[in-house]
Amino acid sequence: MELFELTAMEQAELVRTGQVTAVGLLEATLEHVRRTEEQVHAFITVCEKEAREKAEEVDRKIASGIPVGVLSGVPYSAKDVFCTRGIQTTGGSGILSGWIPPYSAAVIERMDAADAVLFAKANCDEFAMGSTNETTAYPPVPGNPHDPQRTAGGSSGGSAAAVAAFEGAVSIGSDTGGSVREPAAFCGVVGLKPTYGRISRWGMTAFASSMDTVGPVTRSVKDAALLMNVLAGFDPRDNVTGRVPVPDYTVEAGKGVRGLRIGISPDFSGIPGIGPADPGIMKALENSAEILENAGAEIVRNVPMPNTKYSIPAYFVISRIEAFSNLQRYDGLKYGRVSETEPVDMADLYRNARGEGFGREVKLRLLAGLFLSQKEFYEKYYRRAQRARALIRSDYDRIFDPGGDFRLDVLLTPAAPMQAFRFDRQDIDPALVQYADQFTSPMNFAGVPAVSFPAGVTEEGLPAGVQAVAQDYCEGKILRTALAIEQALKDKSREAV
Ligand code: GLN
Repeated sequence: MELFELTAMEQAELVRTGQVTAVGLLEATLEHVRRTEEQVHAFITVCEKEAREKAEEVDRKIASGIPVGVLSGVPYSAKDVFCTRGIQTTGGSGILSGWIPPYSAAVIERMDAADAVLFAKANCDEFAMGSTNETTAYPPVPGNPHDPQRTAGGSSGGSAAAVAAFEGAVSIGSDTGGSVREPAAFCGVVGLKPTYGRISRWGMTAFASSMDTVGPVTRSVKDAALLMNVLAGFDPRDNVTGRVPVPDYTVEAGKGVRGLRIGISPDFSGIPGIGPADPGIMKALENSAEILENAGAEIVRNVPMPNTKYSIPAYFVISRIEAFSNLQRYDGLKYGRVSETEPVDMADLYRNARGEGFGREVKLRLLAGLFLSQKEFYEKYYRRAQRARALIRSDYDRIFDPGGDFRLDVLLTPAAPMQAFRFDRQDIDPALVQYADQFTSPMNFAGVPAVSFPAGVTEEGLPAGVQAVAQDYCEGKILRTALAIEQALKDKSREAV
């Protein structure tokens, strides 16, 4: 096995114990990245110089016996929505091209304190708006490492493609409606959306603030737990972060599933009026349930989640209105590139900066946000969407209520209704593409944690992603579930050899 194929946990251990240098690990990774990027195109920026400096610092610490962090020398990438001091941060948008932030996002600081080595900024949809990475202003669009004709998903498509292609063991993405979990499912890796407020978003470009979260993308469940240990916690600079103690998630993950009540809902089996979810993914879900049952979990069937069907339309309204507000700051003065065209007045300056800097998808969403937030439409759209959101939250409260009818610890669903589809959309009903987040966005509305993980393959041999969901701040339970399935599948494939 090559160094770059190891998990972050294994890599950190090798570096910490002096069996491999951080610089050696970085160079092995960079060499692989150079070869792989010709096909995968996961990154907007590769910051070799800064990465070498950090790797040398880690090696110096180890040589002088100074204790190192839990991610000692682990090369990683971060979605280009996270500010990185001294390294270009674009948010996937033309309006920020060439922008070099004077500070790093909270999660980048935390990764640095854990002695991880940032080597690249991953491609993504513009301001995280999209499900395929095609809205990025920085082509080529990342391809799926399992089939370059297919999308890697989005908006954290670069992160998921990178991790699947062994370009770094881990990456950090963001998830507002599914942007960590859907690309993770498409690429066959692990993607975790934590509880709203579990990880600080300070220094991340804001899209829809009432749903924005930061999430790890990894190849193993244990690595997701390890990253949660590093990233989770209170931050006074992000006032939605909770003062909730951070457990050791790697210990939590290993607790097994014996005694857990795990639910399956018919409301997560297809799109009403459009069609059923991919049969291969539904089979992976069933297989996962069987694994969990054999491991001592109690499977509860027919759990009603009747309001999830409102998620996509409500998300449309709320996310556009919040984006419209958040993206006001990119005006060519406060933030964003100034146009070369000489403005005739102030409005012209804004118009030029925004007209040239934003891509089509962002413009459409801002126009929708402007329209929907008008006073006369408040009742018709925004209020109704907020009501739908409250109903969606009540679905989760009902199934997780310890004194209720279902008393679930975990809800198990498909991560996405479809497998990674072709860029040319030849293999998919275009109407279905609009519902890529059907099974992920309800969790952003509810604020509950969810992890998507590979649980088998579809009929075409592509990754099938399953999702585990739990009540607020119960990341431990979803990690336990995912780890039990990961281990059982690994044991099975070993038997088959
Ligand atoms: N695909 C969704 C959208 O286009 C969600 C994106 C996200 O989670 N950032 O808005």
